[in-house]
Amino acid sequence: MVCLISNSQRINATINFNLNFNLTLGKTIFSFCREKIMGHLIFWAIIRTAILIPSLWLLYGMMEYKYWWWFAILSIYGVIIHPLVIQYRFFYEANKEIIENTLCSSCKYFDKTAVLCMKYDKHPTLEELPCEGNDWEPKENV
Ligand code: SF4
Repeated sequence: MVCLISNSQRINATINFNLNFNLTLGKTIFSFCREKIMGHLIFWAIIRTAILIPSLWLLYGMMEYKYWWWFAILSIYGVIIHPLVIQYRFFYEANKEIIENTLCSSCKYFDKTAVLCMKYDKHPTLEELPCEGNDWEPKENV
């Protein structure tokens, strides 16, 4: 059988596939995280913790103690902390405009860690502020 594709074409196709796949995956993760609120990040961190702790407990009897500690530390970082940090970065990036450039960002009722108006218990968006600007009050430290 004769191969009609040259090596450079094959490499270009591979690079294009990887690039497109990574971009698509990045966009998917980004759009997925865009919809999320801080509670979801915490919720999934708790779920991961609830799965990891019993798993580590089971592994405790199967591994040597000195290796188990390293495995536990690395898995806590890899399964709980690192994904949380990545998700928080996506979350912040997705909500950056709201956190930094809306009327809410200078309001004392705005909780930027949760992107939440604490007075109305609602999430402001770029299109809609829960109070429509009527209840804005300046932050004390501004
Ligand atoms: S009171 Fe109004 S301006 Fe202040 S955080 Fe809530 S929606 Fe935003």
